[in-house]
Amino acid sequence: MKKLPIRPLPPSRALGAEISQDPFDLLSPVLRSFSFHHPREDTAPIERAWQVAKSLHEGQFRASGEPYISHPLGVAQILADLGSDRDMVVAGLLHDTVEDTGYSLEECRRDFGEAASLVEGVTKLSSISRELSSAETIRKLILSMQQDARVGVVKIADRLYNARTWRFMPPQKASRKAKETLDIYVHLADRLGMGAVKTELEELSFKYLDPKIYKAVVRMVAARAGSRDAYLRNMMEEVRVALKKGGIRAAITGRLKSYFSIYRKIVVLKKDFDRIYDYVGIRVVVDSPQDCYSAMGIIHERWRPVPNRIKDYIASPKPNRYKALHTTIVGDSGQEIEIQIRTEEMHREDEYGIAAHWRYKELGDFESPEWIGRMANWVKDLQDPSEILPALKSDLTSEEILTFTPKGKPIYLPEGACPVDFAYAVHTEIGNRAVGAKINGEPSSLSAKLKTGDCVEILTSPCPNSSPSPDWLSFVLTPKAKNKIKRSLPRGKNPEDAAMGKKIFLSSLLGGQKALSYSSLLQASRRLGFRNFNALCTALGEGKVQPAAVWKAALRGGASRESQESDKYSLSVAGVEKGEKIELAKCCKPVPGDAIAGFVTNSRGVRIHSVRCPDFIKLSEKMPDKVADAQWKGAKGEFEAEIEVLALDRQALLADLSRAISDACVDLSSSRQKVASNLVSAYFSFKICDLAQLERVTKSLEQVEGVIEVKRSKS
Ligand code: MN
Repeated sequence: MKKLPIRPLPPSRALGAEISQDPFDLLSPVLRSFSFHHPREDTAPIERAWQVAKSLHEGQFRASGEPYISHPLGVAQILADLGSDRDMVVAGLLHDTVEDTGYSLEECRRDFGEAASLVEGVTKLSSISRELSSAETIRKLILSMQQDARVGVVKIADRLYNARTWRFMPPQKASRKAKETLDIYVHLADRLGMGAVKTELEELSFKYLDPKIYKAVVRMVAARAGSRDAYLRNMMEEVRVALKKGGIRAAITGRLKSYFSIYRKIVVLKKDFDRIYDYVGIRVVVDSPQDCYSAMGIIHERWRPVPNRIKDYIASPKPNRYKALHTTIVGDSGQEIEIQIRTEEMHREDEYGIAAHWRYKELGDFESPEWIGRMANWVKDLQDPSEILPALKSDLTSEEILTFTPKGKPIYLPEGACPVDFAYAVHTEIGNRAVGAKINGEPSSLSAKLKTGDCVEILTSPCPNSSPSPDWLSFVLTPKAKNKIKRSLPRGKNPEDAAMGKKIFLSSLLGGQKALSYSSLLQASRRLGFRNFNALCTALGEGKVQPAAVWKAALRGGASRESQESDKYSLSVAGVEKGEKIELAKCCKPVPGDAIAGFVTNSRGVRIHSVRCPDFIKLSEKMPDKVADAQWKGAKGEFEAEIEVLALDRQALLADLSRAISDACVDLSSSRQKVASNLVSAYFSFKICDLAQLERVTKSLEQVEGVIEVKRSKS
């Protein structure tokens, strides 16, 4: 038996968490961590960067009230803990100086050389529209990563520090950041092999993006934590004893799966929540790869492995270099449990990823992963910035397949790609002229799905100015192909223009303070000479109309017209004939307090809808001139209300929900429910007098275990 000392495993959650005890020497934990990974390197540039950053950020503060310098310091600490090289730690300290202080990039380059390129890569682009600027900033990040992949690591460390302080942000802003993080940065961290950062970013994003569902999962996990922990402790001890008997030295830790991965298992993979043992795992760290295999053998001798769950990522690592043995065994009590076996080096690499590679100078210069270059290539060409984020998301989340040209040149494509994607990946001209394809010598359609190993030959038209077919847009997958096809289409033919127009207009709305009523948008469309709002959006998308013009036209209206009071409800409707019957719409059942609008029907008077009612939105798009502004004038009478409850499915859920409603002292008039992917949508109807009563019911339902969200249906 070997007697190698095993260093304690670095606790993955504590990345960058060390805080100096000495207020006059805040930098020392960073230096300590850096020197631990790079014992022979000079730390003077880091100390210099610290002095510069400290004086530049002097007088600035974070939303939390802390001095601003706490942020760059924290980012540098995360980077140092990851094992990053000196330039990266320097860049961590300086990363916000160019953006937020008078320090210029030239000065930074003069003072710190190569680290300045990393600072440049993470510096935000300022632009008028917030949405477009964040897309452009990510585009710039990807392009900088093509030059130097370390930029990505610095940016991700920055995002991690910020995500940890989202609680100081307005919830809406935090949730926007969380979405961007979940869509982009989590996948970048995964691709760069930064497992610990990826998991923490995922968890924080989940918490701020969907606080309700997050809380529901936390509550359900907590309710079962006792028996789960007992089971885990017991299994860990059994594994320890078995390995010791077999002569394998091992550090054994329990692994609680993240709330995000539990949520994904329940909702996406439709696992039963009560199989709580799926939510724990055991990690075994041993001295050598040989020991990994021996340990797995010993474990399989003692417990029965579940077929098809044995994964050898040591012999064939994942594309992000992940290495380990995975197996799921059936424990003594019949419960399955996953065991991961790896060496300490594999463990470090999984947790800290690409940054850890730069520690090993003897391995030579670390080569940038191939996918970055490919991604940068299409990102560079994308003209419409609003497409960057969705396209990046789909690129980052898809599995890769490897195909070949007839000459054997490898072409990497996302899973689900077709010959048209392939053609554009080879050359734009080949894409534009494609008329057919052969896969492995067999004629096939241009929309066929390719698989790894396919050899693809594209048949092209001899005509030099042939152009792609707009139909291709319905099946191509890669952003490059989409982009090239769209560019070659005549203007106005693009089916996505309307959607684009809506986005442009909505992002201009985000900047403005004043909300526009739907009827005023419809009126604006008419004034500008369009059939309806959709037609206006198409024009916006084509760039024929500017958002400002729409604003002007919409605000021009609003001349007050005479309004009619309803005698049945306390509300008034503008611009309808006297004596017109006023009724509440059955679809959305508005209640005093809701934003409402009237719709003038042909024979049944005016129907009052909630402005968010999907039926109303459809009607008003078709017949905008029938829309009338309406307002509540108080609250009298009885109203029918319907509530929708979204919950994680479990035993006795519906009984508990019904009890919660009767506890709130309202009488149920009807209920119905549907279940999909372990999520239950239950609908309850009852009569109420005012919104306060509705609120009581909502509160009472929210207390029920497993409930994610309670809301009015269709309003
Ligand atoms: Mn920052």
